[in-house]
This record gives sequence, structure tokens and C-alpha cells, in this order.
Amino acid sequence: MKYYSTRDKNKSGGVSAAEAILRGLAPDKGLYMPEAIPQLTADNLNALTKMTYPQRAADILARFLTDYDPAALLEDAEAAYGERFPGGAAPVVGIGEDVHVLELWHGPTCAFKDMALQIMPRLLSRALAMTGEKRTAHILVATSGDTGKAALEGYRDVPGVKIPVFYPVDGVSAMQKRQMTTQLGANVRVAAVRGNFDDAQNGVKAIFADAELAARAERDGFFFSSANSINWGRLAPQIVYYVSAYCDLVARGAIRMGDRIPVCVPTGNFGDIFAGYIAKVMGLPLGTLICASNANRVLTDFFATGTYDRERPFFKTISPSMDILISSNLERLLYLAAGPEKTAGYMEALAANGKYRVDDDVLRTLQSEFKGYCCDENETKAQLAASFRAGYLCDPHTAVGLGAVRKYRAETGDRGPILSLSTASTYKFAGAVLDALGAAPAADDPAALLNALNRISGIEVPAPLAAALTLPIRFSEVVAPEEMPDVVFR
Ligand SMILES: *Cc1c(COP(=O)(O)O)cnc(C)c1O
Repeated sequence: MKYYSTRDKNKSGGVSAAEAILRGLAPDKGLYMPEAIPQLTADNLNALTKMTYPQRAADILARFLTDYDPAALLEDAEAAYGERFPGGAAPVVGIGEDVHVLELWHGPTCAFKDMALQIMPRLLSRALAMTGEKRTAHILVATSGDTGKAALEGYRDVPGVKIPVFYPVDGVSAMQKRQMTTQLGANVRVAAVRGNFDDAQNGVKAIFADAELAARAERDGFFFSSANSINWGRLAPQIVYYVSAYCDLVARGAIRMGDRIPVCVPTGNFGDIFAGYIAKVMGLPLGTLICASNANRVLTDFFATGTYDRERPFFKTISPSMDILISSNLERLLYLAAGPEKTAGYMEALAANGKYRVDDDVLRTLQSEFKGYCCDENETKAQLAASFRAGYLCDPHTAVGLGAVRKYRAETGDRGPILSLSTASTYKFAGAVLDALGAAPAADDPAALLNALNRISGIEVPAPLAAALTLPIRFSEVVAPEEMPDVVFR
């Protein structure tokens, strides 16, 4: 199976899956997509129902990564999703009123990024070997919190890879900072950058764009690469948990095989929900895909009107991983709905004018599959408190999703079973959660926040977060943006 850029009109630049994973972005700045979406039969689904999560992952990945050895994929899936997910890789929890929550945060960093970043480094490592690459890959990451830690955990001690991560010195939560500065592994490096997230991000972009640094890297035997969410190697593993959740619901009798079930996804960069759409195109019986946004409601407006307009105020919210105005993976949906030629045009308009409008027939196609809802800060806090009173404590991102479920039910009258994704442990955002529950404010100290939330909820603190409180701080360096290359070359 070949992969083509979403902007490749003539299908001229086909590459293998391994190459798509090594490159990340296509040379024309489009995103790689498989030439066809493999199909799941009813027999396939019945067989998947009897499998473990790693077996399901290997089965689905093998359909897309056709140049990989299926036995190697199973080995990687078992290493990624076995003991590193003590609560199960992707458990489904019923919370009443036929709402089923897919918990994607039982991995080593307690956020859903682990679902992709635990296996992607293994896929990259194999891609290096499969393509004969001898140089070391330096995975440069600028992070506002979740991605950096998940990438560090995923790439730590992976052969052929080094990973420097940069975070804004005052731009991450106390817990996120503690998680990163205590990171283990011989090939990791973490530095705080003086400035905000944009300063760190621009510093990384400047390194990528600097021909002199690239030449120096070449001499030293390495090259720069990235771990961001537009890489197909991050997207493909996310298809798996939709299939897995469906199988689990069938196995426990919550739905019958073939029933269509709507899915609600707290969304930022559109990677997670797009993976759900791919699962549906593969033949998984999913219903409406509910796109849940916070106050940064650019996608809600897009699905309602067909106009994508990023020229709007940016809000910093209590669900920061969804504070995004350019949802990069939406380009892949446009490609499937409108083809490469129109997609290239929309993306040019976005770059030039900050907005584009899709054709009416494209909008109708999208609206037949997706519905967008958003929750502002007050609605998110109210939902979090209401869910807690009803017996389920979640994090603010997950609360945005559950708020969207409530709005979807009210608007459509659909009271049937529904799947809603939970993307982070409540403990990762303990400060915001305590505030939403009206608890007395605790000091912005990770230990104090975890203890306060534990007293109120009685829920056990996830072991990786408890461990981060006791591990020694390894990385306390703070650098100016122009000093970032020194960290990389050291
Ligand atoms: C990254 C993230 C999201 C958004 O996922 P996208 O794939 O960017 O849409 C939602 N919740 C949490 C906790 C995240 O870390």
C-alpha cells in the first residue's frame, strides 16, 4: 500500500508506510494518506472481539502498514500496550444513562497521547532499519505539556533516536513540569525556554529551517525529525481503540454486533476524531461523530457553516490541550471528502487569508457524518461537577466531551448507547478539577494538589504521577530561545 500527500493531484509522490512515518510531512507540505482504506468484514469484527488489545492493534496496523512484518507489529504492540498500561490499554466504563466512557489515559504519562506515542517510536525505529538509515534521528519537540512528556516516555532508550524537549518556563502546570524534569532515559534531554510556548515552538522551527545546523547535524551523524500529530505513525494506532471499544461493548452485551453507536471526541488538532472516522470508513458500525470543542470553537463553527476561520480571539482554557485554532488533521478529512485539488486550494486560502469555505456539496457530506458542539468554561466546570455528583470524576477535557454528549442528546432526542472518549487522568489537571468542584484552593504544588483531590474523590493517584513526586529532578536548565541549538548539539 502506497501513501500520497493530501495535496498530490497527480498521485506522483507515492511512498511506503515506513517512508511516510520517517518523513512526517510530505514535501509539498501536505499530509500522508493511504491510497485506499482497508475494509473490515463482519467476520473480521467477530474475530477481533476475541482478541487482546495488542492483538487487535497488530491486526489493524498490519492492514495499513503493509511493508511491516506482521510478527514485528505484534511484538511492538505487546511491548507498547502490555505492562505499561496497568489499568488496561483502553478500558470502557459505563457511567449510567447508556453513556460509555473509553478511558485512554492508563499509560505511563496519564494522557491519551500515550496510545500513539508508546508504539510510534517502535514503528520509527523499524522504519530506520527498513530504509537503511544509518544516522541517529533527533526528535525535536516543543511542548505545552502533554505531548512532550508522552514523547519522552515513548522515545526513551529507543535505539537510533535522541529526544530533546523544550517547554516554556512558566507555561506548563506544576505536575507537567515535575513529570518532564524527572524523566528517565539515557537519550533524553529536557530544557525550559525563557518565554512562552510560541517562543519554544519558533525556536524548534528555526532549527528545522537552518541549513547550517542541518549540515552540522549531517557531519555529526544525525538528522532532525518530529513527533507531532500529523505523522501517520501517530494516527494509525489511534484507529485501534475505536475498534477495540466497539468489540468490548458487543462482548459485554451493551450493543449487538452491527448496531450503530455515536462517538463523542474532545478535539483539538482533529487527530483523535479523524482516527474514529477512519475506523467508520473501514466498516466499523459507528454513528454520528460528535466533535467536542472548548471555548476555542473553530470546529463547531466549521461544521455548522462550512467556513473555517482561524482569525478569532484565542482563549486559554482549563482544557489546554484543546486550545488550538489550526486543526491540522482536518486536512485529511477534506482530502477524503473533496479530493487533493480542492484540499490544496483550501489550504492555500488558509495560509493566505486565515480562512476558507468548503463547497456546499462537501459541507453536506461532512454534516452527514459529523456534528460539532462546544462548551465554554462555565459549562465545562458545571459538567465536571455534575458528572462527579453522578459518580464519575473526570478531567476538564473529558468534561467538554460529556457536555457535548448532553447537548447532542438534547438536540437529537437520541437516548441510545453512546461512546465518549476520556483523554486524561483527572489528576493531571488537579488544580482545575478542584476549582470546578468548589474545593478550597490548594497551593500550586503538585503534591498538595494530588493529596487534596485524593481526599475529595477517594480515587487512587496513578502510580506514574505519584512516582514523579519522589524521583530526583534531572533537568533544571533554563535557556534563552537562541541557546536551543546548543542543547541539541551537546
Ligand atoms: C491532545 C489532547 C486532546 C486533543 O486531541 P486531538 O487529537 O489534538 O484532537 C484532547 N485531550 C487531551 C488531554 C489531549 O492531550
